[in-house]
Order: sequence, then C-alpha cells, then structure tokens
Amino acid sequence: MTASISDPLLDWYDRNARALPWRNPPGAPLPADPAWPYRVWLSEVMLQQTTVAAVKPYFEAFTARWPDVEALAAAGEDEVMAAWAGLGYYSRARNLVKAAREVAARGGFPDSEEDLRKLPGLGAYTAAAIAAIAFGRCAVVVDANVERVVARLFGIREPLPGARKQIRERAGAITPDTRAGDFAQAMMDLGSQVCTTKAPRCLLCPLSAQCDGREKGIAESLPVKPAKTAKPERRGTAFWIERTGEAGREVWLVTRPGRGMLGGMRALPDDGWSAQADGSGQPPLAGEWEDLGAVRHTFTHAHLTLAVRRAQAQGEPTGDGEWWPLARLDEAGLPTLFAKAARLALARAG
Ligand code: SF4
Repeated sequence: MTASISDPLLDWYDRNARALPWRNPPGAPLPADPAWPYRVWLSEVMLQQTTVAAVKPYFEAFTARWPDVEALAAAGEDEVMAAWAGLGYYSRARNLVKAAREVAARGGFPDSEEDLRKLPGLGAYTAAAIAAIAFGRCAVVVDANVERVVARLFGIREPLPGARKQIRERAGAITPDTRAGDFAQAMMDLGSQVCTTKAPRCLLCPLSAQCDGREKGIAESLPVKPAKTAKPERRGTAFWIERTGEAGREVWLVTRPGRGMLGGMRALPDDGWSAQADGSGQPPLAGEWEDLGAVRHTFTHAHLTLAVRRAQAQGEPTGDGEWWPLARLDEAGLPTLFAKAARLALARAG
C-alpha cells in the first residue's frame, strides 16, 4: 500500500513541487546549513492558520533581520511582535521568542517529534512537520490539506472531528520510511493545488487510480465537516487621542496585557470589547469625543464591530501608554484590527 501511493505521489512532486523560500528542492539531501531547521521551524509556525502568500514576505523579512535562531533569541519581544504585526494569531509570536531562547540555550533544535513538541507553540502537526522536513524523520504529518486528501483517497465518510483518528492511521500507513519530508510536502501541495476543497482536479491527480472517493463520486463532499455554529457578534470602541507634540502630530498608543486577545501588541486604547459584548466602557480621557464610524474584523471565534472615536488631548490620558508620532505609525506594529481603525481615523482627518 505505502509504495502504491508514495511512489506516484513523489514522482509527481519531483515535477510539480512549488518553489517556496523555505523549501529544499525535491529529492535533494538535507542542507548542511546550520540555520536549516530554524528556517523550517519559522515557516511552519508562520504557516499555522495562514496562507503561503501571506507568509512569504514575513518569512523573508524575518530571515533577513534574524538569519538564525541565535539572532532571534537575542531580539526583544516587542521588536518581534512589531515585525509580526498583520500576520495574526499573536500568541505565535510570543511563543516564537520563547522557543528561540530555549533552542539557543540548548545549542540547537531537538530532532525528534517528541522533543520538538516540548518547545513553546509546537503542537503535534508542527512538531511532525519539522521532524520530517528539517531532519528527514519518518513522521506522520497531518494538516488540513493532508486530512482532505486522505479522507478522499480512502473514502472516509465519518464526520470530523471524529474521523481524525482514522485519517491519522491511514496517513501513517502510507508514509514512506525514506523521503518523509518530501512526502509530507507532496501531500500538502497535492491538497492545495489539485485535491482542492471545491472541484478537485482528479484528472490531473497522480493518485486518481487509487482514490476511493473519486471512484464513488463523493470526493468533493469529503471530509464531512461538523455543522457550523454562528460566530457571536461583539461590539466595542477604540479611542484615537491626538496631540501636537515636539515631533509633530502624535497619537496615544497602549500595550495590551500579555494574556488575552492580541496580548502584548501595541494598540489604540479601547473599552474592553474582548471581555464585554456591549462595548460600554469609558474613554480614557474626559472631553469632546467625535464619532468617526466603525471598522469590522473577524476573529476565529467572533465578529467584532469596533467604533472609532476621536478627541484632542487636553492632558495625559489615564493608564499606561506612549505618544507615537503619526509620521512613524507604520513602525508601531499595530495588529490588523487597530491598523484598520487607524486608517479610518486618518482618512476622516482628511
Ligand atoms: Fe483528490 Fe481527486 Fe486525487 Fe482523489 S483523485 S486524491 S479526490 S484530486
């Protein structure tokens, strides 16, 4: 069974592999570059819940600025958080710094799935992917793409998440002892380029002869997804507080608490929307407030409508924060939600 799937798949990969900045060419020996596991790890953490197109510029910027794990370990957490801004799921950036420091302190990355899993921010999938891709270990790598390919290949009709055990066992049974990293990446490429969620391109698929889902005409309906629950709607208010200081126009920015939504990121002050559904908190400054409209943002767990209000500072706002020059606002590392709110405020300022 293993060879009947892995041989045609690896042949296809040798001809069709996507060229990605973090990738070794198909069939090539593992690079001797000591920074190789770092590049694989960094790319895999960035790719969690994020598309290849979104990750590419961040990967290139990170590796240009911090070319190896020692350099990243020596960076300040605030610098890394700011460089991560816009990529989302910010707990990844905090864990990235923690993991880099652990790895640098122990003198390099561990090369087994079990030890990789002990690093901050590494779950089963990421540890398996790094073990296979960076170190050539025979690890079973199952992401959403692989899950879809395997469910179709074996015609698995049990709904997710219950089907995951069976999918994992099947994926394990077809993973070869050699070229495990190429095999994992071939499955991912097949899932993203050919065995797509909608309208899989079975005519181009190297596994079409072995595919139970295609033969039975049910491929597109697999894997069977659990019923969707509607995301809750949250509302809140962000406060744009401006003054003209020595450096020209400035806006008041805060650093969000380390735990919780967008933890540790620079942001506009807000009224606690992440904890309250009605956004009824108080502005951090008494005075004349102007309503500028609202921005919408969707998180994994909720939709948020964030009203934006503006005031000219007549004194110092309450709480900790810093005056940030508007001319350098793009260097503040605002996460996407607050970057949208800032754009609205600046557009309304004319
Ligand atoms: Fe996916 Fe079609 Fe290939 Fe089956 S034959 S693995 S459904 S693309």
